[in-house]
Amino acid sequence: RLKSGFELLDQELAHRLLPPRARNANKYTCGTALIIGGSKGMSGALQMCVKACLYSGCGLTTYAAPACIMNALTSSLPQAMSIAVSDKQGHFDNEFCDELFKAAQNVDVIAFGCGAGRSEDVERILERLLLIDKPLIIDADGLWALSRRLPLLKKRRSATILTPHMGEMQRLCAVDKNALQSDVLRYAFDFVNEYPVTLVLKGMRTLILEKGRLRINTTGNEGLAKGGSGDVLCGMITALMAQQKQAFDAASLGVYLHGLAADLQSQHTAFYAMTANELIQGISDAFLAAM
Ligand code: AMP
Ligand code: MG
Repeated sequence: RLKSGFELLDQELAHRLLPPRARNANKYTCGTALIIGGSKGMSGALQMCVKACLYSGCGLTTYAAPACIMNALTSSLPQAMSIAVSDKQGHFDNEFCDELFKAAQNVDVIAFGCGAGRSEDVERILERLLLIDKPLIIDADGLWALSRRLPLLKKRRSATILTPHMGEMQRLCAVDKNALQSDVLRYAFDFVNEYPVTLVLKGMRTLILEKGRLRINTTGNEGLAKGGSGDVLCGMITALMAQQKQAFDAASLGVYLHGLAADLQSQHTAFYAMTANELIQGISDAFLAAM
């Protein structure tokens, strides 16, 4: 299925993928991102994603969340701009998303899904986002919504990055755990052959795929086996996509640096004690090590 096997995503490759930061850079040249997510009880997922984006070089980061969780977010994310969307039982209300969609037209990259929850309105929002001709990163509950709207992917004209863990990949492929685990590469390649996406299949050894291309990550550890780790990855990829605009490379570098942040952080944080906060604290070290 692959003409030239795979590429190992190691230090040398990661170094080559780092987006240059020009001495005369400004916040617009470094890219703008809109991160959409959060719901009652899951404000943390969005917060981790936004924070990771801020720590990964994005020029201007805006987030949109249901109004009921805004108080929990604004004081901890002073570096980002925010859009509050009227909520319906703690979730997004699709009917009050005008400001969100207006902002979506004006950014370089959109990310959707972290902590968004599962509702018909979340499905509608995803549907509308898929129609926008901008790079889109879909994670977590966004992937749940996507699994019910898969054919819409075929109409995408801009880059689409999906970041499922194995459970989410199962839902996207509509297969059970055993089937997926016994033939992961086949399912992953069938998926990228059918849909025009960059697929980040997360696990102990995260795979990054596009049609005819495969990279295998070499960083990361079991300290990452905690809620919030994936949200951090989504924010990092969003920031890198805003800066370099090439989906396969942005996804690859994000995966590498995310794992490296965990590896460097684990020199002074036990795996047991690692949370998304410590992981985010390691992002800067990961960039320094990759430069
Ligand atoms: P999520 O399940 O969405 O929170 O994502 C978990 C993140 O942590 C993914 O990037 C995984 O690759 C990573 N991760 C979880 N467990 C491990 C592990 N044992 N070794 C390496 N990476 C892991
Ligand atoms: Mg996740």
